[in-house]
Amino acid sequence: MTASTSRAVVFRVAGQPLQLEEFPLPELKPREALVRVDFCTLCGSDLHSMLGHRRVPTPSVLGHEIVGCVASVSTEQTPADVTGRTLAVGDRVVWSVAACCGECDRCRRGLTQKCRQLFKYGHESTDSRSPLSGGLAEFCLLVPGTAVVTLDETLSDREVCPVSCATATVAETLRGCGELDGRSVLIFGAGMLGLTAAAMSRWLGASRVIICDLAAERLARVRDFGASETILWSDLESQPTTGASLDVDFALEMSGSSDAAAAGLQHLATGGELVLVGAVSPTPAVPIEPEQIVRRLLRIRGVHNYTPQSLQQAVRFLTETHHEFPFSDLIEQTFPLSRINEAIACAVESRACRIGIDPRK
Ligand SMILES: [Zn+2]
Ligand SMILES: [Zn+2]
Repeated sequence: MTASTSRAVVFRVAGQPLQLEEFPLPELKPREALVRVDFCTLCGSDLHSMLGHRRVPTPSVLGHEIVGCVASVSTEQTPADVTGRTLAVGDRVVWSVAACCGECDRCRRGLTQKCRQLFKYGHESTDSRSPLSGGLAEFCLLVPGTAVVTLDETLSDREVCPVSCATATVAETLRGCGELDGRSVLIFGAGMLGLTAAAMSRWLGASRVIICDLAAERLARVRDFGASETILWSDLESQPTTGASLDVDFALEMSGSSDAAAAGLQHLATGGELVLVGAVSPTPAVPIEPEQIVRRLLRIRGVHNYTPQSLQQAVRFLTETHHEFPFSDLIEQTFPLSRINEAIACAVESRACRIGIDPRK
């Protein structure tokens, strides 16, 4: 028997328990597909939304790191994946966090993640096209303009699930760095983004990968993800400001800390680049000395979400390296949809890299 409704977890008010509700499955319009959600991981920004650190439309169905199987496709203008292959029922897929129009000025400039008519999975009001726009549900509706990547069976759900936010964001970050072969990278934050960035930097040939974090226990496993050196934030901070630069080619701020962003600038080599990725909720200002930027030929770049090429690159990276790096260990616990509030509490208290939700349970 085919389902006619889908359970979904609805977020209404920050700090309040989320509720499991039931919605009818939508009638598909041209270029749409319906996906059965097999796994969804709670991203840090989901937690920021739930705790009220950032504003999202409400009521909404959160969750944007999702893997699933195509349950139905529109027969009129059947959608295709990023390679142009038509989607079919049963295809195992991941897809971009943002869907874009492909026609506005930003889309034409390649800034598809900032489309003027942006649709973001896990960030839409239930009044938009369908309430089923997030991963904390049994089904999710894929709308036109979504970059879909078809998967084979190589990667497990746990390995691949974070690809549509964390891994693709890291791919976008490092694609913007250019050639990494033989270069040095300093990463702030040993969470999902930082560990993924360490592993991907190595994959791309970086010779020196340093991870800095506040907590020694978070640094304990970074060598499993390719880091060549670790440094505690307190040790980095206590270094005198002159003559003690780590002299790295790239500093990747993935913790959201303004102090880390400032330290990143300080530890860049001449010609280096600071990339800001982690600050997805409001943060204090960082002092910048323009003369330092000028004389040391420094660059500062921001990364938010990604383009379809980075999602493809991220899937390629996981496929090639999942035997080398223990990605599935980063999903520290899994809960069914019905225990979502326990899952959130666990994610907040344990500071786990990821908590998984399995809607099939
Ligand atoms: Zn657009
Ligand atoms: Zn995310």
